[in-house]
Amino acid sequence: MTEVLRPDLCVLGGGIAGLAAATAAAALGAKVVVVEKRVLGSLGPTTAAQAFCAAAADVSRAARLGAAPRADLGRLRARLREIEARHALEIAPPRLAAMNIEIVHAPGTFVGPTRLEAGGFAIDARHFVIATGAAPAFPAIAGLDLIRPADPQELLTSETLPKRLLLIGANFDELALAQALLRFGSRVALFAPGRILPDEDDELIVPVLRRLAAEGLAIHENTEILRIEPQRAGACIVLGPNATSVEGSHVMVAATPQACVEGFGLKAARVAYGSAGIDTDAEGKTGNPRIRAIGGVAHAPASAMTARHQGERVALVLFGGPSDVAPPIARVLETDPEMAVVGLSEAAARAQHKSIRVLRAPFAENDRAQAAFGPEGHVKIVTDSRGLILGAGIVGPQARELIGIFSLAIAKRATAADFEAIASSSPALTQACRTAALASAPQLGKAGLRSRLIR
Ligand SMILES: Cc1cc2nc3c(=O)[nH]c(=O)nc-3n(C[C@H](O)[C@H](O)[C@H](O)COP(=O)(O)OP(=O)(O)OC[C@H]3O[C@@H](n4cnc5c(N)ncnc54)[C@H](O)[C@@H]3O)c2cc1C
Repeated sequence: MTEVLRPDLCVLGGGIAGLAAATAAAALGAKVVVVEKRVLGSLGPTTAAQAFCAAAADVSRAARLGAAPRADLGRLRARLREIEARHALEIAPPRLAAMNIEIVHAPGTFVGPTRLEAGGFAIDARHFVIATGAAPAFPAIAGLDLIRPADPQELLTSETLPKRLLLIGANFDELALAQALLRFGSRVALFAPGRILPDEDDELIVPVLRRLAAEGLAIHENTEILRIEPQRAGACIVLGPNATSVEGSHVMVAATPQACVEGFGLKAARVAYGSAGIDTDAEGKTGNPRIRAIGGVAHAPASAMTARHQGERVALVLFGGPSDVAPPIARVLETDPEMAVVGLSEAAARAQHKSIRVLRAPFAENDRAQAAFGPEGHVKIVTDSRGLILGAGIVGPQARELIGIFSLAIAKRATAADFEAIASSSPALTQACRTAALASAPQLGKAGLRSRLIR
């Protein structure tokens, strides 16, 4: 006879979002079952990629100070293995069991709006969270099926780095990896059918692209790839319109996430979905009041941290009592300089509000930036006409850390005037946020940043 499990929460998919939801719910006292058909936390930690990029940044910083550092890739790889081993311990089944999380290692399928079946169990949970993720989809390019594109994880862990990487398309993660490889001595060429990251604010993204170009990234925007041809060692990309060939030792293709929505009974569960994913509101609610969806399957951007935030958030909403509306999640481009944005961009704010203010402060006028990092970059803040913070963007040192101030400001409905409370006895980068917030609009200095001319 089929055993029936009756947990508070059943999570379908033990990837990044699902495990975050499960552990956060268990910490709030819920009895949790996770159904996972493959390996828990299957895509692995992105911390390894960050450690790789951070090491490359250290090498470059030391070189700028006049040292002649040599990257010890062997030691770096050993550190990456340590990070992965620690992550594996964090999600080891005995640890999860001790947290009151039961793992069912099998594919799960909804057989009705309130029941899921997996591995011989019927699961009637008080709440279900679908976190089945997204699979990588590659662009249709002639000849792509004749080669084996390099996988980012493989590049991080293989014994030798690519001599010349040909990168087709570029999202945030690929750009950061490209810069790290350049700094470790690889040559990298980037090919994009249109502009690179066309949805980002030029003011913020152009300084990053300029730096990458200055460090040797060969950028081919608005390029048509006619075909890829395998070669004895590596491959060659043939570009239109004149069939120009570019050779490389490795080819990497930026994938688009394709939501995993088929094959586990969404129709039986009465959950509406399309090819782009499950339809949800900001809190992951689906059309079925018992079922929420988070992460890659629910239109989330391809970001492990976003998936984790959504997992923790859904647990809080289900088991933590009433809470404020979901705070905005900052997006970070982990290049050097870093770029980070949160809330509304200037363009989105203009479309939604009758009148806005745009405030800026350059790091060139910040003592801490000058002393420790250099003068490049700036802070940009968008407010409504009364000074309420709507969005912010930073390009420059520690952007990923500084942007948290603006996430908090937006979530707590702070105004630009509230930034007066940022005060420290030593020069600090946070002062640049304060200076921008307290600046009187409009400011000059934007014109030079507008051009996307990066060569
Ligand atoms: C190719 C690729 C590269 C990426 N690189 C990065 C990166 O470098 N940095 C970054 O921040 N983000 C990256 N991302 C995005 C990041 O991996 C995702 O945002 C994140 O994994 C989403 O988490 P998730 O839990 O929704 O999905 P996943 O982590 O993919 O987990 C989904 C889980 O559900 C399981 N599952 C699916 N169906 C069933 C079923 N019926 N029964 C049981 N189990 C099931 C799967 O086996 C899987 O373990 C990448 C994404 C892709 C596709």
